[in-house]
Formats: sequence, C-alpha cells, structure tokens
Amino acid sequence: MFDSTLLIIKIGGGSGLNLEGIITDLTELNVPTIIVHGANALRDEMASAMGVERRTITSLKGYTSVFSGPAMLDVMMAAYSGVRNKRIVELCQQHGINAVGLSGLDGRVVQGRRNPGIRTMQDGKKVLLRDFSGKPRSVNVSLLTSLLRQGYTPVLTAPIADENGVAINMENDDVVTVLARDLNARQIVSFIEAPGLLQNADDESSVIPHVDPQQLESIETAVDGRMRRKIKAIRTLFSEGHRPDVQVVLADGRVEHPLRDALAGAGTTFVTTGAHAPVSNSTDTRELQDKFELDVYGKRGIVLVSGIGAHVWDDTGKKYIDCIAGHGAVNVGHRHPGVAEAITEQTSTLGTCPGAFYNNAKARYLQALVTAAPANLTRAFLCNSGTEAIEAAMKFARLHTQRGGMVAMQGGFHGRTFGAMSATGNAKLATPFQPLLPGISHVRFNDVGQLEEAVTKETAAVLLELVQGEGGVHPVDATYIATARDICDANGTLLIIDEVQTGFGRTGTLFACERFDIRPDLLCLAKGIANGAFPMGAVVADDHITVPVGLHGSTFGGHPVACAVASATLDALTTTGLLPDVTRKGDELVERIRASKAPLIREIRHLGLMIGFELKTRVRPILTALAQRGVLALPAGTKVLRLLPPLTIDDEDLRHVADAVVDSCGIPTNVS
Ligand code: PLP
Repeated sequence: MFDSTLLIIKIGGGSGLNLEGIITDLTELNVPTIIVHGANALRDEMASAMGVERRTITSLKGYTSVFSGPAMLDVMMAAYSGVRNKRIVELCQQHGINAVGLSGLDGRVVQGRRNPGIRTMQDGKKVLLRDFSGKPRSVNVSLLTSLLRQGYTPVLTAPIADENGVAINMENDDVVTVLARDLNARQIVSFIEAPGLLQNADDESSVIPHVDPQQLESIETAVDGRMRRKIKAIRTLFSEGHRPDVQVVLADGRVEHPLRDALAGAGTTFVTTGAHAPVSNSTDTRELQDKFELDVYGKRGIVLVSGIGAHVWDDTGKKYIDCIAGHGAVNVGHRHPGVAEAITEQTSTLGTCPGAFYNNAKARYLQALVTAAPANLTRAFLCNSGTEAIEAAMKFARLHTQRGGMVAMQGGFHGRTFGAMSATGNAKLATPFQPLLPGISHVRFNDVGQLEEAVTKETAAVLLELVQGEGGVHPVDATYIATARDICDANGTLLIIDEVQTGFGRTGTLFACERFDIRPDLLCLAKGIANGAFPMGAVVADDHITVPVGLHGSTFGGHPVACAVASATLDALTTTGLLPDVTRKGDELVERIRASKAPLIREIRHLGLMIGFELKTRVRPILTALAQRGVLALPAGTKVLRLLPPLTIDDEDLRHVADAVVDSCGIPTNVS
C-alpha cells in the first residue's frame, strides 16, 4: 500500500481531451499521481491507415468492446504504449513533471487474466469469441511505490500481462480500480468528453453533481455503451475493500482547466456517505454529549454522521436536504473534493504558522481574497470566526478614527463576544451579560432619519448587515445604504459592512456589496469563507485604513490550513459558473412556494439563496415537520423559517424543499 494521498488520473482515449490543460493543472498540485490513459481514437486512426479491420462486439450483457485479434493487438500496442504514452510523457517532461511511461507489461506493472471468451450473438445464434483481452487482477505495488516515493509520475497504459506474460488488452477503468485498491488511492479523476454523468444523455447541462455509490447498480442498468463499463468499474471500486473515503470524479476533459475544475467540484463526484454507523455508537453519542457537553444550544435529537453536496445523513441512514448548511457556511457543498484535498495537502505540509512569519498558503489566499473583494479594499486581516472579524473591525475603526462611538442596527446580529454582542441589536441576547461595551447606539434598520440623527463627529463607525440574517432575513433598502455611505463620508465615520452571512455567493454575487453597489470601509467575512470545513474569518480594509503593528492579533488567525481551504473554496465559487445560478435557484424556489399560498406563511423575503418565511405561527414545530420530510432548516427568531442551502443544491432538491415547506406550512389551496 502507498501510504500517502495518491491521486489517480484517468485520461480517456478520445481525441477531444485537453491533455495540455490536464498536465498544466497537475503542475499546480503537489500530490503523488499516477496517470492511466487510453488511445482509442488514435488506435482507430492507425488501424484504418494500416488496413486492419476494426470489429466491435457486444456481449450478451450489453457491454461493447473492440475485438482484440492479433493484428488489432499490434495496432493497439503501437497506439497506446507507442505513440500516445510517449506523447503524454513528453508533455509531462516539458512541464517539469518527471514521468515514466509504462505499459502494464513492463515489469508486469499490471497483471491480469485473459478472458475465456465473450458471449455474443452472431447471425441470431449465441457464440463464444476469444481474443487477446482480459481483466486486470493486481499491480506491482513495490515498483509503483518506489517510483512514486522517488518523485516520478508513472504513466500507465495497455497492454497488460496475463499469467504467462502474454500481452492482453483490458479496460483502463478496470486498471484504475485495481490500482486504487492495491495502492490505497484517495482520489480518482476520470476525464471524459462530457461534463460528467448526465441525467439526459443529449443534454450537457443535465450533469448529476453527486452520486451515492449505493445508486450505482440502478445507474449501470440505465446507461449504455462505454458509460456502462465505466459505471461498472466505479461500482466495483466501491464494493471491493477500498478505503472508505475514496472519491471518484467523472469530469470534463475538454475544458481549459480540466483538473483544476474537477478538483473544485465540477463534474460528477462519487463518494460513499459512510451513513451507516451502527446505532449503538449513536446511542453513545447522545449519552456522551448529554453528559459531558456544557450545552449552550439545546439539541434537536438528530445525530448527523456524514454529508455530501447538499445532503446529510443521520445515524439511522435517513437522508436530509441540508438547508442549514452549517448556518450558511457550506456554500459549495459538503465534502467538496477540492476543499477536502486542500485540507489533506496543507496539513501534510505545514500545519500552523504564526502571523510574524510569511507563508505561501496565506500569501496566496490574501491575494485571491483582496482581488475578489470590492476594488477599494486592498488588504485583509485573517481571523477565526465571524464574531472575531466584527471585533477586529470595531477595534480598527476606533484606532483609525480615534473615536469611541458606534452606531448599529436594531435587529442586527454580529456575534457573541462582548464587542460584537454589544453591537447586536437584540436585547434578549445581550442584557443577561450586562454591562455591555459603552458608546454603541442602535437605530431602526432602513430608517434614514434615525441614522442621520445618530451619526456625529464622535462616531467611529456605522455597522450593519446588507441582509439581516438572524434578525429575520430583511434586505437593506438600496437608497438607505447609499445614504448611509454619504452620512459616513460627511462625518468622517467608517462604514463597516457585516457580510458574515451574505458573503461568498449566498445572495447571488460573491459579496452582497456588489448587488447594492456599496463601498465599505471595512468588510467582515466568515461562515462560507472556508466552506464550513475550517473555522475562519476575515476583515478586508479600504486602502486608506491603517492599523499599527502590535495592537491586535490571533494565535490561529491566517492558519495555513484555513487559507488553503479558503483558496479552494474561492476557486470553487468563482471557476465553476455557480454564482449566476444562485439568483435563479432562489427565485424559482420562492415562486413555487409563493404560488402554493400555504396558509401558515405570512410573507416571504429573500435574496439569492438566503430565504426567510415570516410565519403566522411559531417556527419550531415547522422545523420538526420539515425534518420529518427530509429537510433540515433553521429559525431566525421565533416566527421566521430560514433556508440557507448549499449554493450547489440542484433543482430537484429545491423542488423537494419547496414541496416540503408547502406541506409543513399547511394544506395548499391552489398549487399549479
Ligand atoms: N455576523 C453575522 C451577520 C452573523 O450571521 C453571524 C453568525 O451567525 C456572526 C456575525 C457571528 O459569526 P460567528 O458565529 O462565526 O462568530
């Protein structure tokens, strides 16, 4: 077994794949990799140039393959291990990847068994045809391991060796399966000439983003031709003693950055849910937490054990559509492959780095964040949570302006530490902890007159959310926020925008500031910044704001793992075309629910996938009813039902969520 994070890249044999792009992307990764490739298009070209007949046979079970007679085997060797293998090795070498090209025959790197024959129909009769094809059984682990350990990238292709050392053809997908098992691979990316597994073979936009391997059997019977073989190989991979966290991504090899996109979540990801933890363990879980946790939350009684994409599973195997998403943090979906990869890679490189030292993961993320943020924001401070971002912004505002006053909004929410809590406009949350931070006044949200009155030359900052989340999903008025900017400018007051909840695509643009065309002086971020996979927060500051060295800091702020995860999250948000769809998804969900006229819903407010339902009843029983219907949702106060699903949620799940909300909020009267 190879004891590291092995990546296997399978490159299909079609002529339309962007080989250069795959290899270029590979240079950005620093993980041991094996490349397995085909050359079907080239084989067919060479066969016809050499006058060798290409014969296709379809087995009685419906699997199609090219008949590997002696002449075709020669052509195949020339195409696979001759031309294409050397071309890929050459490309790797040109990009600084020290590749070693091997057929399965060399060093018996892949050994298999020749097929006894393929049962097929000929002229209406069943016949058994035998060619030089077979199935891989094992790989030469010590040869591959020693190459990988010395930093080489093996590039493998057909033929493989049978028990007698005879060259036989095989399916590359089967080789990948055996390699992954014998070398303990963690991730497999298989490039095809399609954007992934499609719901409808003729519609490239119908990609199925995630597949639970338990569904593979039914998928295998529903697809045909080469895809059926592929699905069969993936099914074997999940059923044959592989490591439980293996991930397979079926991704588009035609795009500009095939590997980068695949690792950022494009294509179809197959991954086990691990959802079937024994019930006895879960009983322990509840007992242990009930006994040992100083619980400040109150529990809903559900034990969550795993998640992928927009779904989570409980200990009984029940699946939920997760419209809580870690309180609006898991924007690119649970167990996102690029995010997971970033954690493993960075923890195995440098697990922590104090702020007084430079670090490449931090440098790279700071650049990416500042580039993505509104143009006037040019530097960022990194911390560990939303409340810390607010705390830092409040301190920076006091330092910069040398003033003590602060104006915040009634109904606003900014966190649980003393400064942020004092700024939070909800007496119920703050009064028990008095005395609070002095100098903070609260004004009515969206009331220009009150703001004008409250802001003076003593005010260091105005602090507000663009959509009040915890306060009940209330978007700011565009005129109010524009006037707030003017009021701040007139008084030398800073404008702190809290985008802890609205940031990173939640409202349909990367930051809600873009939607409202507003220029903050300090922008506070957290939640979705690292997809909920790692605690993190940030303050991005206007160019003119200065903070002296030595007055603020954090042991873990700007942690290299947080930065690596945040970079992967930002990549996933910005390179996969996800954001433009967020507004449509939110609008369609809301329209479907609105059309139902569900009796318990008084009003619906939303921006993108930040959705609130003002109810005529208390929200708690509705949350329970939704959970019974397989949807996890959260409250905002006592009467608002809030949905914050992963932005990657698909249309089918959204329809299910809409129907569950309608069902839980009373009997619909006129659903179309
Ligand atoms: N600001 C806003 C707008 C929030 O919604 C939250 C949390 O819900 C916070 C700040 C505090 O973030 P954290 O829980 O990461 O401290």
